[in-house]
Amino acid sequence: PVDRLPEIQEARLRLPILAEEQVIMEAVRENECVVLCGETGSGKTTQVPQFLYEAGYASSGGIIGVTEPRRVAAISMSHRVATEMNLPSGVVSYQIRYEGNVTENTKIKFMTDGVLLKEIQKDFLLQKYRVVIIDEAHERSVYTDILIGLLSRIVPLRNKKGLPMKLIIMSATLRVEDFTENKRLFRTPPPVIKVEARQFAVTVHFNKRTPVDNYTGEAFRGILVFLTGQAEVHSVCRRLRKAFPYRPHREHTGSVLCSQSLSQSLPRINLDSYSALPADEGDEDRQAGIDDDYNEGSDLELELGDHPDKEKADPSIPLYVLPLYSLLAPELQAKVFHPPPAGARLCVIATNVAETSLTIPGVKYVVDCGRVKKRFYDRVTGVSSFKVTWISQASANQRAGRAGRTEPGHCYRLYSSAVFGDFSLFSEAEITRRPVDDLVLQMKDLNIEKVVNFPFPTPPSSEALISAEQLLISLGALEEPPRHGRARLSCPITPLGRAMAAFPVAPRYAKMLALGRQQGCMPYIITIVAAMTVREIFEDYDRPAGSEEENTKMAGKKARSVQMRRLWAGQGQSVQLGDLMVLLGAVGACEFAGCTHQFCEENGLRYKAMLEIRRLRGQLTNAVNAVCSDAGVYVDNQMAPPTESQVLCLRQIVLAGLGDHIARRVQAEELLDPKWRNGYKTPLLDDPVFIHPSSALHKTLPEFVVYQEIMETTKMYMRGVCAVQAE
Ligand code: ADP
Ligand code: MG
Repeated sequence: PVDRLPEIQEARLRLPILAEEQVIMEAVRENECVVLCGETGSGKTTQVPQFLYEAGYASSGGIIGVTEPRRVAAISMSHRVATEMNLPSGVVSYQIRYEGNVTENTKIKFMTDGVLLKEIQKDFLLQKYRVVIIDEAHERSVYTDILIGLLSRIVPLRNKKGLPMKLIIMSATLRVEDFTENKRLFRTPPPVIKVEARQFAVTVHFNKRTPVDNYTGEAFRGILVFLTGQAEVHSVCRRLRKAFPYRPHREHTGSVLCSQSLSQSLPRINLDSYSALPADEGDEDRQAGIDDDYNEGSDLELELGDHPDKEKADPSIPLYVLPLYSLLAPELQAKVFHPPPAGARLCVIATNVAETSLTIPGVKYVVDCGRVKKRFYDRVTGVSSFKVTWISQASANQRAGRAGRTEPGHCYRLYSSAVFGDFSLFSEAEITRRPVDDLVLQMKDLNIEKVVNFPFPTPPSSEALISAEQLLISLGALEEPPRHGRARLSCPITPLGRAMAAFPVAPRYAKMLALGRQQGCMPYIITIVAAMTVREIFEDYDRPAGSEEENTKMAGKKARSVQMRRLWAGQGQSVQLGDLMVLLGAVGACEFAGCTHQFCEENGLRYKAMLEIRRLRGQLTNAVNAVCSDAGVYVDNQMAPPTESQVLCLRQIVLAGLGDHIARRVQAEELLDPKWRNGYKTPLLDDPVFIHPSSALHKTLPEFVVYQEIMETTKMYMRGVCAVQAE
């Protein structure tokens, strides 16, 4: 029995999914696997775990597991469900990569999909779980796809063993054929239950023109505004705050108004440049784009034009402007769920995170720029770039659907209906868009010999599988195939490969950890790997600031940051490690100072990233000790800098992981072409690549370097550059 507060109970009863509880629970009882479709906000994520709990699926020791493609969702949904059920976080808990509050008493566990995949490695039958819910399956994140493939085998095995288990796949769109019609996945198609959402009409307004670059200027009148990245979000927040200042002392006395009731009394948004069209209600096959932590990407090259003349808005309408994106600190993310202060209208400026995984209460207007920032990989060269592209029609409809949850709403599309007509219908599954070496290693570790035969909902290309296998062979994680005979893509895993699979990082970094014991280098390698796999440890001071004063402050901070990086790089030392030494120095200095917010702020480090590195160091240290019981490493917050011979050793270890990412300074004869100046030559690219001005090696230009990756922005830049020696 669940003891809910009356107001929670009342709010639940308004959710469309409550009417379907019987139908859903019956289908779950009768079937091993059930697919559940319902619009964002219909109550899938918050209510289905509660239905299962109340039906006894978490009694007698079993757990209800829920996977989310995003950390933001795993954390916030566990909090929400705990609140609704009036249960402590030790019972309704979450686990993300290196953080969680799971206890012995946990009954409902929200986690990222990657966490569950790791658990399958430890216990293939997932015996702890009575039910696994794969949430947001429409996002088609790589791990979600793999989990569905694995669970399609695990569930029947569990039932055969007399330990029955249920699988529920939840999707915000009706496009689920990749799961239901795929005979390799489910021989008998699972039943599909649709939840009819009580969606209020959303009037869609297309812009008559589609601005090419200044869409952030157009996104100015919104309530939930979808933009592409962090820098845009900040820039628009700043401009909105300036134009519609919210002053706490102007608050009304008395009751707190919530955003939707207030919005009725606020002036209407001027529709002059929009043509109104009815919402395309017939189109329910929807699929969202992917935008995980990584995809939100660097905003380095985004140009944001300010157009002051357009922004003479009425300052008497106070807006309570909040940003929302993946890298934002969790306590700031949580702000969007609370009612805005009295007298102000809530205005959330978000990236794609708000498209399906989070429901922001009380949104009436949506402003959609029609774009998303995605990471692209070149299949042949491995070069990655972040590009802003048009979203799919399905995504646009998802975004529009964010208005009209609680009353009729409006969606302003900052593009014309003709441009909308050219959008692709659906976004592609992520697995077809990125390298798969990490997945292949995980699968081999699960003794899936022939990865080509795995029941992928959408299989990756055979080129991608082959290049993954080649990389793993070169790292020594898979056995070399015999010269003749055996077909490709069935090389067995080596003992080294098993050790590597135990580390929660990509194979290249796992290889470095596996080699880290030489000359006492392990603590350094753990730190370097942790820092390399956490995004953007440095604060970005290049983003456009507002006033003169802010600009001066930013410039000061930037200068300090540059100075610190130079210090951390170990200038003056005869053996250079380059950017990796900067990472090591930054983490070392930060930990020595107690990893405080203040230290990060003063020295240009991103506090959230440093906390992540700290957790990851702990986790990697445990993993290393578990793989080799006599390693005896521990996290040392007073780590001395590595000695010269250790630095040489670190270079060798890094080279072993990044051996195919080697670049050589161009030779004299190639310098005839001016574009090769200061350039480097890599095996796979015809064109030169460069060391970024922010790199520690920008001035040194060593003859040989290895790099973490090549990122194409204004030029092809190597990221994470480390000097190595010619053998
Ligand atoms: P779905 O998973 O179908 O998209 P959810 O279960 O996430 O829907 O949300 C159902 C409803 O619960 C939302 O419409 C919203 O009103 C409410 N809700 C969800 N999360 C919160 C929260 N953190 N605070 C307040 N209300 C919330
Ligand atoms: Mg949901």
